[in-house]
Amino acid sequence: MSAKPAPALTARERRDRAKVARSIAPKTLTRLEKQHPTAHCELEHTSPFQLIVSVVLSAQTTDVAVNKATPGLFARFPDARTLAAVEPKDVEPYVSTLGFFRMKSRAIAGLARALVERHGGEVPRSMAELVALPGVGRKTANVVLGVLWNEPEGVVVDTHVMRISQRLGWTKATDAEKIERDLCAILPEKEWAQASHVLIFHGRRCCYARKPECGACSVNDVCPAAFDAEHVGRKAKRPSS
Ligand code: SF4
Repeated sequence: MSAKPAPALTARERRDRAKVARSIAPKTLTRLEKQHPTAHCELEHTSPFQLIVSVVLSAQTTDVAVNKATPGLFARFPDARTLAAVEPKDVEPYVSTLGFFRMKSRAIAGLARALVERHGGEVPRSMAELVALPGVGRKTANVVLGVLWNEPEGVVVDTHVMRISQRLGWTKATDAEKIERDLCAILPEKEWAQASHVLIFHGRRCCYARKPECGACSVNDVCPAAFDAEHVGRKAKRPSS
């Protein structure tokens, strides 16, 4: 039998709880880690090259869709050298199930060429070198640094991390850069990589954008948005014309 929802908080109670929530954020994260003990990057890969290509392909689409496309892609192009040797149009058939596939084909072909020319086909291990690669921004670089070496320079903020951080009262910001700054300020650095995996797992399995399952959430006693979260951390509806 599901637990009876607690009554929604008043605005003042919500503000007070958000203040507390920020101060106990590391403990809350630990509790969420227990709820999702297998949280990890869900992009399937067997090498740094495959990971960075998968992350670039995952823009504006789901990890599931990327994971369906990449076995065929990596069977044909197993490393940066094989991908760098072809034209983007030769890559298109392998990623045509993904949105923006022409643009993404150009992006990963260009990325492979840069990896070969600048790094001997290997994926570099520093933020500066990663973001200098074509098509690689800070978010992609942090996924790579975090997943491969547990050395991110920040917290990866995607749509799940954004929504749940807002609901948990860890940030009031609405843009990814400011949210990342807020999360880095309240979470220990050694947790930055895992924090984003845990929050993404939580967003995919419990704290849904629509109808979050607050009754099944391990941190509903400290979440300022508990049982009233549907409109917290979601984009405002466009006014009807
Ligand atoms: S599921 Fe509910 S209680 Fe848990 S973090 Fe999301 S909004 Fe808060």
